[in-house]
Amino acid sequence: MKELLILDIRKKYSYLIPNEIQGTARGDSLIRIEVDTSSPMYEETKRANLYVRKELKAVFFFGWNYKRIYTEEELRNARLFKMSVRKYFEPCGRDCGTVYDTSHVCEICKSGERQVSPLYTRKGSYLNNRDVASTISYEIVVSKRFVEFVKDHSLRGLTFGPVYIGKRLSSDIFQLMVQGCELDFSERSAFGIAPFDFTERCSTEGLFYGEVYKCPKGDNLGGDLLSDAFIKDCDEIEQYDFFISRQTIGVYRGLINQRHILFCSPRMRKLIIDNKIRGFDFEIAHVI
Ligand SMILES: [Zn+2]
Repeated sequence: MKELLILDIRKKYSYLIPNEIQGTARGDSLIRIEVDTSSPMYEETKRANLYVRKELKAVFFFGWNYKRIYTEEELRNARLFKMSVRKYFEPCGRDCGTVYDTSHVCEICKSGERQVSPLYTRKGSYLNNRDVASTISYEIVVSKRFVEFVKDHSLRGLTFGPVYIGKRLSSDIFQLMVQGCELDFSERSAFGIAPFDFTERCSTEGLFYGEVYKCPKGDNLGGDLLSDAFIKDCDEIEQYDFFISRQTIGVYRGLINQRHILFCSPRMRKLIIDNKIRGFDFEIAHVI
């Protein structure tokens, strides 16, 4: 596996990165760079970030992402894949009348809300040319084509809930829901709020003061997943095609809250690709 860290760094600090790293301009003030995380350049980028944060008390980069490229053999041998949804849209269900039960949320990190009504959303173009999309609050909607695809191939571990567009029950949009199995993250997975930043709780004054990213109770593991997903082995991995993580990542902000991570079997990934189901991305999840 080759892992590239993609960072949108501030142009004014680009003198701090090695000359070997070629960047591309993003507007007037940012440069997008790609750094192989196994290369010496990664350590130099890490040092540059630390210098800007600690010495200059400033921000080195804004946007970030990881791109992981696998060999054919790695893909062939994988037992599990992490799935992500490419398209996000607004408004979230809560803003359209979807009801959540907050009576059992964690008193520290506020994770554990449960949706207790059908999903209400608005009409939009979010499923144009794709079969899956997510609200910014991680309510996932799928096309009728996707529902039929799941039934046709008897994929196990997922079910579908009704979606209302305004007050009308939709006949061609459904909510994707898990039915069966939650998987536990192994300690080998790395969580943080951004590359090089493993902050567990925001202690600096300002808008996000007091926010909890890594809950001491273990229900929310961090602001984001920074490494490959490492999952604890269990019998259910062979029994289902679709799973969510038991633990969440993210932070409670009222609308954009914590989320579970999605996983699927190699069979489900292959069927999605072969049948040209549109809108999912995949990475290998390591079962250990
Ligand atoms: Zn908690």
